[in-house]
Amino acid sequence: MTEAQATPQTGKRVLLAKPRGYCAGVDRAVQTVEEALKLYGAPIYVRKQIVHNKHVVRTLEDQGAIFVEENEEVPEGATVIFSAHGVAPEVYEQAKVRSLKAIDATCPLVTKVHQEAKRFAAEDYDILLIGHEGHEEVVGTAGEAPAHIQLVDGPGDADKVTVRDPSKVVWLSQTTLSVDETLETVARLKARLPLLQSPPSDDICYATSNRQHVVKEIAPECDVVLVVGSRNSSNSVRLVEVALDAGARAGHLVDFAHEIDDAWLTGARTVGLTSGASVPDELVQEVLAHLAERGFTDVDEVVTANERLIFSLPQELKRDMKAAAAAAATRA
Ligand code: SF4
Repeated sequence: MTEAQATPQTGKRVLLAKPRGYCAGVDRAVQTVEEALKLYGAPIYVRKQIVHNKHVVRTLEDQGAIFVEENEEVPEGATVIFSAHGVAPEVYEQAKVRSLKAIDATCPLVTKVHQEAKRFAAEDYDILLIGHEGHEEVVGTAGEAPAHIQLVDGPGDADKVTVRDPSKVVWLSQTTLSVDETLETVARLKARLPLLQSPPSDDICYATSNRQHVVKEIAPECDVVLVVGSRNSSNSVRLVEVALDAGARAGHLVDFAHEIDDAWLTGARTVGLTSGASVPDELVQEVLAHLAERGFTDVDEVVTANERLIFSLPQELKRDMKAAAAAAATRA
């Protein structure tokens, strides 16, 4: 029997985006919690959601991680991990006061933006930080230089900005924004501040850009684009917006396959599928199985980039892992 005979051709297809799912920063943050649990034993406290994904958080909770909002909820002397989104310097200070053993799982690409903020603040620049108000990453970056940073939450905020010296102003951004909307915001800012400087390198990270790029490629052919991701995941929410802007006739964000409403698929011939940077691929595979049960058996993976970036674990954790391995070797 040929493959064509084995799989009935329904004319309904899935365009599966690649790159999708886990980025290097998320992979490192999740591994940090897993390795800390193995090394120190449960419970391990994690300040904020380690990454913005319900499934990941529940899985780590099952392994013994306890998620808290602030350091005050962590017992004195316990181990706390700071999430991939980064924290303001005052959070490290609070941890010291409570004698917490802090492990920093901030994504190195977020740390890069913190360093830029510190450097421009030290040179007395006004910094326009493009990002979403209240997002943990923005709170952390702004905390590096609160007296120098103003938040610009989208193009509409560009007209509200006031600076001390229009020749000494720079824009930085959250790592997970819409590339196109950020360009629009920068254009509006530059119309008012022609000498506005740009960040030394892109702040929107490679993973965010790559996931948006492939969605733009597939969206015009899609009746509906499904994005697997959580509502508090900035990069996942952006993927739905990008899909709609690029021509998808509908777009939906779901945490799990069972959240897909069959009405969304009525009359659809082509479904686009992708996932945010904090989503394990098993959730995408579950959506593929769900779609196959509804006749979407023809799956084309559309690849626009191959990602190979890997970040090493936080230094403080690696040091303890090495010491534990050395102690085990001595005992053996
Ligand atoms: S989305 Fe980008 S900045 Fe955020 S954790 Fe992933 S690689 Fe780092």
